[in-house]
Amino acid sequence: MDINVSQLLQEPVGSTREHDIDEDFDITGDGKNENRIKGHCTMLLTQRSILVKCNLTTELELTCNRCVSQFFQPVKIKFSEEFFPTLDIDTGAALPPPEEASSFTIDEQHILDLTEAIRQYALLAIPMKALCKKDCAGLCAKCGKNLNQGKCDCPQDDIDPRWAKLADLK
Ligand SMILES: [Zn+2]
Ligand SMILES: [Zn+2]
Repeated sequence: MDINVSQLLQEPVGSTREHDIDEDFDITGDGKNENRIKGHCTMLLTQRSILVKCNLTTELELTCNRCVSQFFQPVKIKFSEEFFPTLDIDTGAALPPPEEASSFTIDEQHILDLTEAIRQYALLAIPMKALCKKDCAGLCAKCGKNLNQGKCDCPQDDIDPRWAKLADLK
């Protein structure tokens, strides 16, 4: 997700650029899955950096916390981050690194790379407790059958409702 910002860096403070995104992206970085990421970013040149605001969506494959089935869920990736130039665009001189070591930077070729920011915010957007649907029936605590696909043959009388909660914790 490289964007060349050499033009923008030479414009007056307050200048903006719009950037549409619609591409495949390997969120987890494991080289296995790619997710389509769509949306829009606005870049604003400030006194010291380029402020990038992105509003993106993707679909992530998640595992249900109750019934352990795989399902796709739309996820919003929204962030606003500063990217600091490493070179002065006019003189070519190296600039001091940003105060916060974790800040995003623009490289010597004036390329602003959104990859790491999108990855970080996408991982944050993954729900801790994903459910395939709000009223997922989960698995039978006795036989392990997925109760979304119908009831099992286990005797009903000794099913303790607390099992459902325990199943949630796993
Ligand atoms: Zn489920
Ligand atoms: Zn059962």
